Amino acid sequence: IPPVVAIIGRPNVGKSTLVNRIIGRREAVVEDVPGVTRDRVTYSAEWAGRDFTLVDTGGWEHDAKGIHARVAEQAEIAADLADVIIFVVDSAVGATATDEGVVRMLRRMKKPVFLVANKVDDMAQESDAAALWALGFGQPYPVSALHGRGTADMLDDLVGKL
Ligand code: GDP
Ligand code: MG
Repeated sequence: IPPVVAIIGRPNVGKSTLVNRIIGRREAVVEDVPGVTRDRVTYSAEWAGRDFTLVDTGGWEHDAKGIHARVAEQAEIAADLADVIIFVVDSAVGATATDEGVVRMLRRMKKPVFLVANKVDDMAQESDAAALWALGFGQPYPVSALHGRGTADMLDDLVGKL
């Protein structure tokens, strides 16, 4: 059975765009309207000859429970079933209170976490990514899921952990 990599994070940080980037197809639904992806979607993925299962999460936005609780709950379910977690933060926005909730949950999980600072579309935005060192998951990977910047380096390290 291929190892499972779960992509978690708040709505609109670019999780589905990153999935598209990794699987190389326009298959994961990406919408400008937050919350379009439904629950968890699973894909078979491959990088550098290594097969893995990629789990995208999302789609709880307009739930009555409130976004904070829903993000935390979905992240916990996905993280629980994953071998490795990609935690995506919007580097332009920085870590929000919702992100901090996910951080606390991930610390309890004690699984490998790759912190992706997404939307680093150019060099000038790399300092935004560096600020996310403070979350305590080591080096944040500055990535532009949209343009592909930095994703290869992140994936090289990721498959090294599988
Ligand atoms: P999700 O809700 O976390 O799955 O986020 P999506 O993948 O649906 O992306 C939300 C919005 O952010 C879309 O408009 C994407 O085009 C945009 N987006 C995603 N990645 C990037 C990126 O690296 N740079 C920029 N500038 N926009 C991005
Ligand atoms: Mg999505």
